[in-house]
Amino acid sequence: MEYSILADIYEKLENVSSKLAKADIIAKFLKSVQSNELSKIVLLLQGRVFPSYSEYELGIATQMMIKAISKSSGLSSEKVDGIFKKTGDLGLTAERCVAGRSQTILLKKKLSSDHVFENLQKLVTMTGEGSQDRKLGLISELIISAQPKEARYIVRTILGELRVGAAEGIIRDAIVSAFLIDEKTAKEDKGKAVEAVENAWGLTNDYGSVAEMAKEMGIKGLQRVGIQFGKPMQVMLGLAAEKIEDVVKEFGEVIAEYKYDGMRVIIEKKGNRLWLFTRRQEDITKQFPDIVELARKCLKAEECIVEGEALGIDAKTGHPLPFQILGQRVHRKYDIEKMAKEIPVQVNLFDAMYIHGKTLFNAPLTERRKELEKILNPIIGKFQMAKSIITSDTEKLEQFYQEALKGRQEGLMLKVPDSVYTFGRHVGAMYKIKGVMENLDLVIISATWGEGVRSKWLTSYELACRDPDTGKFLSCGNMSTGLSEEEYASMTKILKKIIVSEKRKTISVKPKIVLEVAYQEIQKSPNYESGFGLRFPRFVRIREDKGPNDADTIERVTSLYKSQGKIG
Ligand code: AMP
Repeated sequence: MEYSILADIYEKLENVSSKLAKADIIAKFLKSVQSNELSKIVLLLQGRVFPSYSEYELGIATQMMIKAISKSSGLSSEKVDGIFKKTGDLGLTAERCVAGRSQTILLKKKLSSDHVFENLQKLVTMTGEGSQDRKLGLISELIISAQPKEARYIVRTILGELRVGAAEGIIRDAIVSAFLIDEKTAKEDKGKAVEAVENAWGLTNDYGSVAEMAKEMGIKGLQRVGIQFGKPMQVMLGLAAEKIEDVVKEFGEVIAEYKYDGMRVIIEKKGNRLWLFTRRQEDITKQFPDIVELARKCLKAEECIVEGEALGIDAKTGHPLPFQILGQRVHRKYDIEKMAKEIPVQVNLFDAMYIHGKTLFNAPLTERRKELEKILNPIIGKFQMAKSIITSDTEKLEQFYQEALKGRQEGLMLKVPDSVYTFGRHVGAMYKIKGVMENLDLVIISATWGEGVRSKWLTSYELACRDPDTGKFLSCGNMSTGLSEEEYASMTKILKKIIVSEKRKTISVKPKIVLEVAYQEIQKSPNYESGFGLRFPRFVRIREDKGPNDADTIERVTSLYKSQGKIG
């Protein structure tokens, strides 16, 4: 397919804001795509060249892109930088620079989406000596072969800033209406189609291959997608509840478990091979040989996929450690064994999705837990079931909650006993009960340099919540307290790597870093895009275990605002 067709679609998507209209544009477009191209095209629509679980990131910095645009347009870097300062967007900058040049260069060949895709994938294979120059050459070559509009989207894709709003839910709906339903389909069958797409996505994590299967094999094909060992799945997500009694009122008896302040780990076992994944689908098998060892010893099933929370334990006191300390082990490349000794873990299991050739997604939670207990040879304190009680007695639940807090855990998870396992979405199957005013997990979208002695650091951070419908991040406050000097320094280092544009003392950054933030109150405020502002926001920690798509949503902020008793 010619890349210009894709560029036109991007432009159309940019020009509409409703979720329905976007899904409609994508559905019509997908119908016109040949099967062998679908997988790549769906990734490109999402601004990616690797599925979300892939460890690869293009990682091209602003400065390198300015050089590439300069090289391919013949304009000086200063000139390109000048245009960038005005537009604040390197995609538009590239478009303008290329447009200025196009009278003189006649493009011989049309750019294909395959060529763009393959070249962008090549960027991650360029490592070692001279790799920066080779990357520069490859990006410039792509921009040289592009029409102005194509250059806009190629550059944005490389920088991970496509932002046309093709959020996951929209792609799902588009696949459904492109290949699985039409106007005559009954409502119930539409629901089945959505379920089938979600199921296949939950297991493969890749809408590209899901689209291909939907087109080639329809609902039946999607329903046949099975467990794929060694590939991460989507995990079930919970909702927040304000009070224990609210959940009990709605569901009666609940399974209450400690909500451990650790890291979710999905353990896959197939014979002697084991894999560990995080809730963000990162492969952490190498980083946690101790969990692999424990799982090998304690899980009796030949094949299984189970889930739990891994917790760092203070080797001296036996108390749980704050997540940040365990977090140091997550991206470790060296000294892995040493770290495993210094920061030992405890795994508390709470679910099983597959055992002995049987998928358990559609089994009720009570049954999944029973099956899990059957295959578990626990080592108490190391690898065990999560602490739990089953009751509808709110007093008992309150006591259990206090016990969890005393045990230095975060609170409770209240789970609905007959609920099934649903991938990737916040469904009403488990509810978290945490401290008084629940902290929010928000994304940094811009930052400002400090004054006086703090002028070497970025000390004020603009925070945003997520709009799941559009994929946009909506500002809801500015935070500058709660960090130590070391934390300001390391945050500055992190943010400098993801600068998108600069205006005087403020830099915009890619929405990447998620912070847990405490605050006194949520107020209505026209000064922020979300319509809400946090009063006295305070830094708690970086949520290394969360990506921007896991940040709290505008709905969550609204509901917390309302729970303060000021419905507006
Ligand atoms: P949150 O990160 O605040 O959205 O809460 C959800 C997270 O709580 C999950 O992703 C798990 O990592 C963690 N968690 C801790 N204990 C449990 C438990 N017993 N059941 C489910 N999730 C748990």
